[in-house]
Amino acid sequence: MLDIKKIRADFPILKREVNGKPLVYLDNAATSQTPQQVIDAIVDYYQNYNANIHRGVHTLSQEATDKYEQARIKIQKHFNAAKSYEIIYTSGTTHSINLVANGFSELIKKGDEVLVSAMEHHSNIVPWQMLCERTGAVLKVIPMNQDGELRMDAYNELLNDKTKLVFCNHISNALGTINPIEEIIEKAHKVGAAVLIDGAQAAPHLVADVQALDVDFYTCSAHKICGPTGVGMLYGKEEWLNQLPPYQGGGEMIAEVTFEKTTYADLPHKFEAGTPNICGGIAFGAALDYMNGIGFNEIAKYEHELLDYATQELLKIDGLKIYGTAKNKTSVISFNIEGIHPYDMGSILDKLGIAVRTGHHCAQPIMDFFKIPGTVRASFAFYNTREEVDVLIAGVLKAKSMLL
Ligand code: PLP
Repeated sequence: MLDIKKIRADFPILKREVNGKPLVYLDNAATSQTPQQVIDAIVDYYQNYNANIHRGVHTLSQEATDKYEQARIKIQKHFNAAKSYEIIYTSGTTHSINLVANGFSELIKKGDEVLVSAMEHHSNIVPWQMLCERTGAVLKVIPMNQDGELRMDAYNELLNDKTKLVFCNHISNALGTINPIEEIIEKAHKVGAAVLIDGAQAAPHLVADVQALDVDFYTCSAHKICGPTGVGMLYGKEEWLNQLPPYQGGGEMIAEVTFEKTTYADLPHKFEAGTPNICGGIAFGAALDYMNGIGFNEIAKYEHELLDYATQELLKIDGLKIYGTAKNKTSVISFNIEGIHPYDMGSILDKLGIAVRTGHHCAQPIMDFFKIPGTVRASFAFYNTREEVDVLIAGVLKAKSMLL
């Protein structure tokens, strides 16, 4: 059992008020809050060993390098990558996906097919559209049903020997659906296609084992798992990372530079041009330590209870509809009340100290599918409580009575 009171004490921000009310933070799918342990790691870096890494002979530089590389190993162990150099530091999921999409410009050709799921974040759509524009490859969409589940029958039909790449999120940010990525990966591999799984929304709720999944690429952003913004990772199988060209040129990513020819550094540095987010990488490691200290099994169980309770209570409200009713989903609830614009609902909830997200959640094709402009999205983390669900329900009822 999680000791929620103790956990909440780790998060200074949860003590603040918004508009004179205690903050009820239910926008965790956009970004999670930061525990004191991670804040301490950030402060420690700037107070004690702030220095540029890798080439310095002085003590501070060596300390920073050690901590940064130790954090890479924490990330490797967390995702069970075979090699630490299969973990590339990036600025987040968006950067990770662009790195791969850019690299594939050299590996795919006109007429090849790439498959994307219908429930992607724009980060996992636009880079691939750009890739298709550059190469003449064809983008095809794996459709979903009204519950927000992927239609695996359609997926099977779309796969063929022209399919070179499949990309899909592990968990949908707008609907909370947990996708059957094991099956997606296995079937893609049967036709020789590589698979990128966007793990941005999965990382806060479960641990993905990249070797067991046999996935080719997996991504995440630290800010969704109690870490800072501006840092994340790309996992890539060594053989794929060796085939992809560098994404950006500059310092750190080279072996030797002359005006005639430059040779590139080995993995992972080939993909890490320039001074990285050193403090961010170290804090990413601290965030994983913090969450593993609590335990992902416990987190998932507790969040599921919150999800069930919140779903049950929200559905008691007349005219309220939940979008994303998959059997297998995580603690994200997208909803609307007939006749109320999500923005109006979100604004009133904010006046009551309740932070939810409103709009298309960077997933416009999902909104088009349901023929709605957007939703109100409440997303729960392990530090939320049943009492906060009650505050949300009361807030939604109050907004409804004001707006209808
Ligand atoms: N993919 C999914 C499923 C997301 O939820 C998000 C962020 O909300 C992203 C990608 C983009 O992540 P970032 O903005 O950290 O690059």
